[in-house]
Amino acid sequence: MITITVDGQSIETEEGLSVLKTLRANQIAIPSLCYHPALKRPIASCKLCAVEMINGNGSGNGRKVMLSCALKTKPGMVIDTCSQAVKEARTKAINELLALAPQSEALLQLSRQYGMETTPPPDGCIRCRLCERVCQEIVGASALKLIKTTGKSEIMPVEGNCIGCGTCVNICPTKVIRIEDHENVRTIKIRDDIIGMHPLLRCEGCGALFATPRFLEHIHNRTLPHPDIKEHHQYCPSCAKLFRKLPSII
Ligand code: SF4
Repeated sequence: MITITVDGQSIETEEGLSVLKTLRANQIAIPSLCYHPALKRPIASCKLCAVEMINGNGSGNGRKVMLSCALKTKPGMVIDTCSQAVKEARTKAINELLALAPQSEALLQLSRQYGMETTPPPDGCIRCRLCERVCQEIVGASALKLIKTTGKSEIMPVEGNCIGCGTCVNICPTKVIRIEDHENVRTIKIRDDIIGMHPLLRCEGCGALFATPRFLEHIHNRTLPHPDIKEHHQYCPSCAKLFRKLPSII
């Protein structure tokens, strides 16, 4: 057995053991994402397990940041696991990893732990607000809203307002808003948030499922005052086009 010093405390360990294993065996928390104890060799890829090795009195070149997974214990070794240099090395590593996996909850948690400012992970929305504006200005439903909270802004559904027209789906340039028709139910979604869920009605002409009751009611109410509208039918766009042409064919 040998003795090493970690953060000013003496620790008994085996010579030649990885410093990371030794630290963890002594309940000293060291972050890592590329290390697994069941695998033979560390590859020192994530660089999160940085520690500072101190030689002599630590002045001049006496301090060196090393990766603890690849560093082996030696008698008299002195290690600092929470110096400023260690914090900087880990912060740099977290930033590099976040560039590769911005949605990783493990990395986001580490970034919070190290007090780092991070931008919200990409969610496929470019905040053009076309959906919000079209739903308010053209459709008149106001079912989407840009909500600003600390550090981020997100397009969110306004509960109960969606009529299931699908206009936002068609206008969304990144296709993060989706329409999912399953059997006779239409779901409009942004990311994993449901904007609206509606039953689908059948076309009076061809019998195909084509529109939601709230959308048809909305159209009915909007076109009611128009002098050219004599009666309302529930036709899908193809049948509506066909029936408009019929009188001239006959
Ligand atoms: S589907 Fe809903 S949220 Fe989208 S434009 Fe129509 S009413 Fe608005």
